[in-house]
Amino acid sequence: MSVDLSKLTVYRDGTFSNYNDAKVGLLTHGLQYGTGCFEGIRGFWVPEDRELYLLLLREHYERLFNSAKILLMELPHSVDELIEITIDLCRRNGFETDVYIRPCIFKSAEDIGVRLHGVPASFAMIVLPFAKYFDATVGLKACVSSWRRADDTMAPPRGKITGLYVNSALAKSEAVLNGYDEAIMLSHDGHVAEGSAENIFLVRHGALYTPDPSQNVLEGCTRRAVIHIASEMLGMKIIERSIDRGELYAADEVFFSGSAAGLVHASSIDGRRVGDGSLGPVARKIMEIYERAVRGREPRYLGWITPTYARRPA
Ligand code: PMP
Repeated sequence: MSVDLSKLTVYRDGTFSNYNDAKVGLLTHGLQYGTGCFEGIRGFWVPEDRELYLLLLREHYERLFNSAKILLMELPHSVDELIEITIDLCRRNGFETDVYIRPCIFKSAEDIGVRLHGVPASFAMIVLPFAKYFDATVGLKACVSSWRRADDTMAPPRGKITGLYVNSALAKSEAVLNGYDEAIMLSHDGHVAEGSAENIFLVRHGALYTPDPSQNVLEGCTRRAVIHIASEMLGMKIIERSIDRGELYAADEVFFSGSAAGLVHASSIDGRRVGDGSLGPVARKIMEIYERAVRGREPRYLGWITPTYARRPA
């Protein structure tokens, strides 16, 4: 979907303006050195309710606080204020489609000098119609990347840091240029970390496995939602531990989770079919519940969503 950016209203440092009036300069620190951090938040338009439900806002903003702290930046708003600004921005744009929301804070000084301390920051938020990230019905041809996931001793992957996405982009482009859909990155010591923009789950002998947060993964909001669904709704055992590459090949099911990607299964990994290649029964059940939850159709998870237009009482 191509978006006419000139039609967007955006938020930047206390004011709402047209997208074209909110530019950054060429020397901006965050652009030159990757010193920024961001979130990717989804909103789901439900025509029957005439409502746009925003997903896991609090979780995303709490993570943004941690990312900003790593980069020695202070967000100019509290989590509650950020939630209000998000709703305000969505209302001003008035989309009646699924949306993607991109809040970001970046070092805004226009000067030369690599550092984190003592550099002013700028906060912005953009909302745009959501373009499909993957076709979830077909499944992904995945490969293990030759690029390793950045280690926490180099730059902390638990922060959603702009510059760190070079790591993801190297892996993703390598995969796509080699004919795959998605890359799976291993950590520096050879354990499974995550996809280029998704966490990863394996199903084996009826249990759900995923790398624990010390495996250089981004602690995904969708990851947490999957864990809730699998344990609370399906009564599954969830095992968070380091996972070997060979376990990917031995798994009955493998699937990815991410705000943009949603839930999508791997049909093959390194040319080895996962299960029979189609969507497995566990991933299917989790997906069905997730799809209902994000549209306000799962009573247990109504707390995950924030209505934009009606602001019904909780
Ligand atoms: N890992 C990486 C590297 C990502 O970019 C993302 C997308 N934000 C995820 C995992 C999934 O996180 P979430 O479910 O919060 O979108």
